[in-house]
Parts: sequence; C-alpha cells; structure tokens
Amino acid sequence: MTRSPLHPRLRAATGMLLLLLLALTGCDRTPETDRLTFQAFGTLVDITVYPGGVHDLTRIESKLSEDLEGMHSAWHAWEPGALGRTNQLLATGGEFSAPPSVLPLIEYAQELEQKTNGLFNPALGRLIAAWGFHQDEAAGPPPDADRLDALLADPPRMSDIERRGVRLRGQHPDLQLDFGGMAKGFAVARSLDLLTDLGVEHAIVNAGGDLMTRGRPGDRAWRIGVRDPLGKGVLASIELGSGEALFTSGDYERGYEWEGERIHHVIDPRSGRPSRGLVAATVLHGDAALADAAATTLMIAGPEDWPLYARRLGVARALVVLPDGSVELTPEMVPRVELRGEVIHRIRAAEPGVGANPP
Ligand code: ADP
Ligand code: MG
Repeated sequence: MTRSPLHPRLRAATGMLLLLLLALTGCDRTPETDRLTFQAFGTLVDITVYPGGVHDLTRIESKLSEDLEGMHSAWHAWEPGALGRTNQLLATGGEFSAPPSVLPLIEYAQELEQKTNGLFNPALGRLIAAWGFHQDEAAGPPPDADRLDALLADPPRMSDIERRGVRLRGQHPDLQLDFGGMAKGFAVARSLDLLTDLGVEHAIVNAGGDLMTRGRPGDRAWRIGVRDPLGKGVLASIELGSGEALFTSGDYERGYEWEGERIHHVIDPRSGRPSRGLVAATVLHGDAALADAAATTLMIAGPEDWPLYARRLGVARALVVLPDGSVELTPEMVPRVELRGEVIHRIRAAEPGVGANPP
C-alpha cells in the first residue's frame, strides 16, 4: 500500500525549517547526542537522543517509524483507515463502536471545540476538502460563493457526535472529521512514550518542525531555532525544558496560489475561508496535542484575539508573527525566547474579556 502524507506541506519550507532545527538542537550545544532522521507520518522525523553512543538507533528507528506509520494511516483525513471508517459510520446516523485509535482524538476535539468557541473544529472536514486540501498536492479551484454559503448555512460541530462510552452516533449529515490540526501532537507525544519504553530518557522528537522534549541534555536546556516565516534566517531561538512541546501553524505550510491570492490550509470557520492577519503562531506547552491545536487556533483567532484564545485554552506561552514581520508574544514566553536582533516585538497579555469575542 502506498501511503501519502497526511499533510504534504510545501516540502521546501518544511525542509528549511527542519534543517535549521537540526543545526541548532543537536550539534552545537549538545555534542554528546545521537541523531536519527527518517520519513514517517508524511513528514521528515528527526530524533535527537542523549547521551550519544549508548542507544540502539536501528531498533529505535524501526519501532518509531512503524508506530508513526500506524498512526498516520489510522488518522488520515482522506485515505482509507480507522478515521475513514469512522466518518462513514458517522454519516449513517446509526450507533457504532468507535475504533480505539480514533476515540481519544474525538474526545479531545470535543473539548477543544468547546473551549475555542468553535474556532478549532475538526468536524469541518467537508469545508477543508472543498478548499482542495484532501489530496496529496493541495489545489484549487476554491469553492465558489454558493458552495461556501451552503457549507456555512448549518456547519457541523464536534458536539454533533453523540458519545456514550465508546459508542458513537453522528447527528449531522455533513459531519466529516479531519484531525490535521491536532494529530501530529498526539503522534509526537506517543513517540516519546515509546522512546521511554525503549530506555531513552532524554530526547527530542521533531516531526517537520513540530516537536517535543523529554529529559534534558545533561544539565542544559534544549534550544530550538525557529525559522523566520517571511525570511530565510532564524527568527528566534527558544529554550525548552523537559516534557515541553513546541508547535507552529503557518500560512506558508501548505497551500496554493489562486488568482494572486495565497490559499492556505488553516480555515476560519467564521468566514469559511483561509485565516487572515497572522503569518504564523507558535505555542509552547506540556501537552503536545494541545500545543498543536492551539497553534492552529491562534492563527484563526487572528491579530486582535489570539491572546484571548490562548488564555481560554490554558496556553501561557505563545508567539505569533504578523504580516509585517514583527512578533507578538505573551509575557510568560519572554524568558524563553531570544529574538534575532532587529525583530520588532510587542508583549501581549491576555486580559479577561478583552477582544471581539469575550467569553
Ligand atoms: P500543520 O499540519 O502544517 O502543522 P496545523 O497544525 O495548523 O498545520 O493544521 C492545519 C490543518 O488543520 C489543516 O490541514 C486541516 O487539516 C486542519 N484544520 C484547518 N482548519 C481547521 C479548523 N478551523 N479547526 C480544526 N482543524 C482545522
Ligand atoms: Mg495544529
């Protein structure tokens, strides 16, 4: 069976980001590490383990790549697998038992959709497909106005899945799950658990620039470089402790040009269109799935409201990039970040009730 990527992003951009991370994580500051790089989960996976020279890297690679490919197939948004079967069964409106691989994602997505007031809504697979993202190479044409109106007239929500234990029932004919905004968070966290089972106590798992740490390289912190989404260099370097995930969502990650407009894969459920106003959002949090979903949510929330949604999600540390290249970050993120000298930045605290959409 051929497996195509869950998110075949713009490979060049991702590759650049990853290279930068490689340069800054393993080599310079932590010479006593081993590194492994392989293709899995539709992206380049890079693993750094500490200390170097003591682990069975062949075994690690074979176990992790097998596990990641299993998750990739199970959660693929448009290829056959456990999620595909779940979507078919949800569409029937009948009751069924959720596949164990999919149930935790459904449960978490229901919670996140509620907390984000529907901005993060993995039930909108049909809308995402309409924009041309349910194929290996994303492509237009974008949906026309009539199609968008139809899709937005009565959009499905995660709460349209009735859940009793493992038994599910779909209650909306247009509900189609797409976990592209959070699946990698689950996958990266699980890879670290697997590494622990394999006797690795100190590691970073980096899947295409989204990553999580466990342990520490000696008595130091991990240091990660973040690429400038608008330029070629490093935007910032970020310090990570043990058990911290750093996830980024960006408008450059996956998309296409249509009539001079950049169509990217983060869709704002309010407009039904690609999000506007932020170029990238990066979240640092101990829960990788939350960091992943939150980065996507902050992109959608946009320049006014991102601090409010960070607060709603319990995210203290976040950083966003605006179209002019300037950066905004939370006060809690400040001590972790070293911005490249000339980058203009502004600190934004999330005030309760501030923003266009107060709780
Ligand atoms: P990446 O996968 O490149 O890291 P993101 O984490 O931002 O990027 O996820 C983008 C993916 O999230 C899209 O490809 C799509 O599968 C999904 N998605 C897009 N819009 C939404 C939304 N409003 N709510 C939930 N998921 C979304
Ligand atoms: Mg995400």
